[in-house]
Amino acid sequence: MSLLNGRVAVVTGAGSGIGRATAEALAKEGAAVFATDIDEAGLKVTAGNITAAGGKVETLRQDVTDEAVWDTVMDMAAQKLGTPSILVNNAGIAIGGAIPEFSLADWKTQMSVNVDSVFLGTRAAIRKMMESGGSIINISSVAGLRGAAGLSAYCASKGAVRLFTKAAAVECGRAGWPIRVNSVHPGIIDTPIWQKSITQLGEGMPVNPDMPAGANAMDADVIAAQASPMGRAGRPDEVADLIVFLASDKSSYINGQELVVDGAMTAGG
Ligand code: NAP
Repeated sequence: MSLLNGRVAVVTGAGSGIGRATAEALAKEGAAVFATDIDEAGLKVTAGNITAAGGKVETLRQDVTDEAVWDTVMDMAAQKLGTPSILVNNAGIAIGGAIPEFSLADWKTQMSVNVDSVFLGTRAAIRKMMESGGSIINISSVAGLRGAAGLSAYCASKGAVRLFTKAAAVECGRAGWPIRVNSVHPGIIDTPIWQKSITQLGEGMPVNPDMPAGANAMDADVIAAQASPMGRAGRPDEVADLIVFLASDKSSYINGQELVVDGAMTAGG
């Protein structure tokens, strides 16, 4: 018996990286997946992979910062696949840069894509699931647990996701809505966002507090190997496995928690 048979899951940012791996892993466990992304070509690949593996998937081009679309996403998923009981707020971007030169426009874009989206998605999911129940999983980062030079806006956005998640979990519990809300905090995971975030950082700007100055000039794999005591970047499927667990009844008493998947990057020196 698969873990998620009969469940419907909405996954944002499902056209790439962690979102794609998550959509595929949820489908493999029997969930019907409503996969959304701003990147339609990426979504097509994800949907093709799921279908080829015998899974059920529907797709929608969604900009997660668009409030009007969020108002209809849960209904569209329900119409096509059944009432959703899983939401993975995964879509995100990382805008790097030193604080003195950082523009307010970039700050607002970072907050909009990484934080507004999580609020809008969680609100839409709670409205839909407050009686039937569900599990909401918000993708934060190790950057939501500690600071990183050159990534202040990203850190602020992921810290906001962490505490919004806890507040939402407490509110759902106190209100008697059978919805769990948890955050996932990946370390360095080998996806396009990680590759991009290195090239965006300014010269001499360490990627995180453990990095030597000038680390951005180094190869992404070398940086990942140095940052993680396990000597390598994580794979998207290693994050997806944790998300499947949080989506399933195997985690039925885990709520309002921050779960780290980082190869011991934040565990010590
Ligand atoms: P990714 O491969 O770049 O995937 C992110 C996806 O979200 C892309 O398809 C992207 O489309 C999409 N997206 C961007 N803006 C969007 C918007 N406004 N509306 C809808 N979709 C949008 O990155 P990833 O590594 O899988 O990241 C997934 C999540 O994990 C993010 O929240 C990220 O912050 C978090 N995370 C990643 C790492 C890591 O090392 N990879 C570590 C910690 C946390 P485009 O490609 O067109 O922009």
